[in-house]
Amino acid sequence: MRGVPPPFPSIVVSMVQTLTDSRQSAQPMRRFKVRKIGIIIASFAFLCTVACNTQPSNVSHPTVNASTPTQAANPPAVLPPTATGGFDGAQAFEHVRKLVEIGPRPPGSDGIHRAQTYIISQLKGIGCPIEEHDFHGSTPLGDIAMKNIIAKIPGTGSGIVLYTTHYDTVRLPNFVGADDGGSGTGTMLELARIFCARKTKSTLNTWIVFFDGEEAQGEWTDRSSVQWSDADSTFGSREMAASMALSGDLKRVKAMILADMIGPSDLKIKRDKNSTPWLTDLIWATANQLGYANVFVNESTIVSGDDHLSFIRRGVPACDLIDDEVQSTYWHTPQDTLEKVDPRSLAIVGHVFIETLPALEKKFR
Ligand SMILES: [Zn+2]
Repeated sequence: MRGVPPPFPSIVVSMVQTLTDSRQSAQPMRRFKVRKIGIIIASFAFLCTVACNTQPSNVSHPTVNASTPTQAANPPAVLPPTATGGFDGAQAFEHVRKLVEIGPRPPGSDGIHRAQTYIISQLKGIGCPIEEHDFHGSTPLGDIAMKNIIAKIPGTGSGIVLYTTHYDTVRLPNFVGADDGGSGTGTMLELARIFCARKTKSTLNTWIVFFDGEEAQGEWTDRSSVQWSDADSTFGSREMAASMALSGDLKRVKAMILADMIGPSDLKIKRDKNSTPWLTDLIWATANQLGYANVFVNESTIVSGDDHLSFIRRGVPACDLIDDEVQSTYWHTPQDTLEKVDPRSLAIVGHVFIETLPALEKKFR
């Protein structure tokens, strides 16, 4: 994930259409961008950014505060699975807790090997058919062994829907990636538990994918040394899209859905303009029907440099679900810790994922 490190309050994001070029060049690790409409509004945005930087408890994230161990030990109350289509937010959160306990999980590290063991053992334990795709990422730090993990739940037809996330974390000491790397992984593991246990097959083949190597490879202790680029990021999703193109499977993919940073208790997911409009509409309509219009909001953002683009560039409909406002707080800092993740938020996204499948079945019937 790349982003504009300074925060942009949502009201400014919706008004301003792009950051100035000078601002982008000053911030090489860019992920979220807004389009330009004029120097006056850009200046206003900058002033507002400065103001927000001086006020950590800004209005966009009233409940995201400095962490304490006691908060982690007592996670917020969850929605019961009976209210979220069977998705257990507490169980998804438990997966996040286990991943955080492992510690930093950058590609090729002992930590990510332990995370791989955890993900694979969990998937096998719930009876999911899984595949491990090993490959090497050619990175600024040299060749790094990476692994995508895929649970493949067979359907009755030929179409495929991909539910995806990344499980690696940035290469930063003491960075445990509870939200960035953890929240999506925990949610997908719980989704796998539900989908793999189903007796009745979907018409769609449902693949749940855990990507390695989403983050740019470099030493993030010196952020200015990390040059986020299309060639140095999203290694796992680029590998999978390329190998599916070679095998011919890519043509069968009806939709690719990506979860990345969905943990905040005040979760706010905006429509990504780089995502496929019809798929975004379908997911937002599903969320609205379930009563989550306050989470899946009618605001837009532009997410660049994330795993969905590896598929969009190859003509596959894809949608990224991400809370882009966290970049003003703990994003890519050691403060991305367990209490930044709320089981309730995982349950809401998980519920939407569960109900998105029948909506896709209907569309591709
Ligand atoms: Zn990240």
